[in-house]
Amino acid sequence: MTQNHKFKAETRQLLDILIHSLYTEKDIFLRELISNASDALSRLNYEILTNNEYYQPDLPVKISIRSDSENNTLTISDTGIGMNQSEMVENLGTIAHSGARAFLEAASEAKDADLSSIIGQFGVGFYSAFMVAEKIEVISRSFRPDDGPAKWVSDGGDKYQILAADKENRGTDVILHLNDDSKEFLEEYRLRQIIKRHSDYIPFPIYLNDGEEQVNRQTALWRQQPHQVKAEEYNEFYKQFTYDFNDPLSYMHLSIDAPIQLFALLFIPSTAEPHIFSDRKDYGLKLYARKVLIQEFTRELLPEFLRFVQGIVDSEDIPLNVSRESFQSSKIIAQLRNVVTSKVIDHLNTMSNKEPEKYEKFWKEFGIFIKEGMATSPEHISQLTNLIRFQTLNKGIKLVSFKEYTSELEQDQKKIYYIIGEDLLSLRNSPHLEAFKERELDVILFADPVDPFMMINLKKFENYDMINVTSSDLELPEISKEKSETKSEQPAAENINETLAFFKTILESRVKEVRTTEQLVNSPARLVDTKGSPSPEIQKAYRYLQKDMDTPEKILEINPHHPIIIQLSQISGVSQLRDLIVEQIYENALIAEGIQPEMYKMVNRINDLLLAALQKAS
Ligand code: ADP
Ligand code: MG
Repeated sequence: MTQNHKFKAETRQLLDILIHSLYTEKDIFLRELISNASDALSRLNYEILTNNEYYQPDLPVKISIRSDSENNTLTISDTGIGMNQSEMVENLGTIAHSGARAFLEAASEAKDADLSSIIGQFGVGFYSAFMVAEKIEVISRSFRPDDGPAKWVSDGGDKYQILAADKENRGTDVILHLNDDSKEFLEEYRLRQIIKRHSDYIPFPIYLNDGEEQVNRQTALWRQQPHQVKAEEYNEFYKQFTYDFNDPLSYMHLSIDAPIQLFALLFIPSTAEPHIFSDRKDYGLKLYARKVLIQEFTRELLPEFLRFVQGIVDSEDIPLNVSRESFQSSKIIAQLRNVVTSKVIDHLNTMSNKEPEKYEKFWKEFGIFIKEGMATSPEHISQLTNLIRFQTLNKGIKLVSFKEYTSELEQDQKKIYYIIGEDLLSLRNSPHLEAFKERELDVILFADPVDPFMMINLKKFENYDMINVTSSDLELPEISKEKSETKSEQPAAENINETLAFFKTILESRVKEVRTTEQLVNSPARLVDTKGSPSPEIQKAYRYLQKDMDTPEKILEINPHHPIIIQLSQISGVSQLRDLIVEQIYENALIAEGIQPEMYKMVNRINDLLLAALQKAS
């Protein structure tokens, strides 16, 4: 009995790339096959605990690797869950692996030269074996007693075959007929080296050429006592776990008995980037119950905003006989989630206090996730607020916390001032900050898109109120005596009421009101909200979500001491120039709010103004 099957188009494409690439580190094929063998053994363990009947209960669980230099073959065997015929078609005929699919996408965009450098960053799965083999045979026997053995064969062309086979023992043999360039993988020392490097923590024993001694270390590192484990061991474990090239930024090892028993080994990567390429193709923690893998990517163990955390949770308290669907909503998962979440947040708080430099690195990579948490998880706000860092008006590029900000306030200032905008530089130059600069009050600058969403939830820090500097009911302390004296000496526009009326006639319904303000210094005008309009955060948040939302009517505030306003108020009679200037002042104020006026109109107007200026000059 022989059945011929064609590979799916995308599988073909992947095979072509793998076979023809000049990738030099072919080693990863072994990592992939060992990881499949290990998955097959974990899945068997799971079945053993939830099913009564399975084939050969006494067969030891292990992975064996044998090289045969006479026949040029390398065989990777496991006594795991196995596959029957249709599972072979299903699993080995298509790309099940989303890592492989992500690789294909990246490969289609990459130039030939880059290709080899990206292969190693992806878990390309089973097919990576075609980098070293001209033909692969897979002979397998399922754990289900009634399924007979089956064989899958392919030379990496566009077809594979399914054949009848003989196999006594449960599990899978993957037989690689090595190509001419890959004879090195017959050498025992090479194989040992690769296993040590990539597969040391595989949780099942690996034996080489039927030797007695197990090659991998195999310890469930997370089940050891934290004081017995060295930093390098954590780092190595992390790299094998994620395929990240770099050490993690930080790790935590938990061993807890109450309120629920758990071991956990959790890592914060050094950058937010690499997990896209890593073998951890999805987010969520790896969940074990008594060393048995329950689920590879368990999202329920942490709130979504902590999805950058990588690692393993293992608990004795999870019943193994519940279905995967029902355990997700179980009370135990909720308890695990509570414990793990608060430990992660505590860890970050400790890092921020004890290792400020490291924390700054963390913040630069993952701060955005913490802000997301502020916006989406009100129940965690109190624990997260101290983790927030920002730049302020007076502290340059230094990152500041709310604690630091408030520690420098005058005794009677019970307000934290902040401004939200599109970018830090525009914020630093915002007309709204002129009054603060004059009073030397510090203001927090928020320019991330997530910031308005965060500030909607954050109304207080300790007993300080959060005050947006653009709010209409701002009450600022008096300015110092000398300053207020110099200020009162400044001339103000004389016929200011006429000027205000004039602005209103030109701008009509675009502004709700035009009035003077003493809060501006260098700018001629600014826009502020009317009482009762949605808060600036909410307006900003809406603008991000739905770009064309109408901005609610605003009040235009004029600085009567500004030379432009003074001179403007001296023009009498009909003046086209004055109309242009009023329009331009208004649009400049819009821009300062991060609202874009119609650019073509503005450019035309500026050209008219330039012409007028030139006519005056000549
Ligand atoms: P992934 O391991 O990410 O699913 P692979 O390409 O490595 O992707 O493997 C494809 C599928 O083939 C696996 O999901 C599994 O179902 C099956 N498979 C591969 N190797 C084995 C094995 N040794 N035992 C049982 N099934 C296997
Ligand atoms: Mg795999």
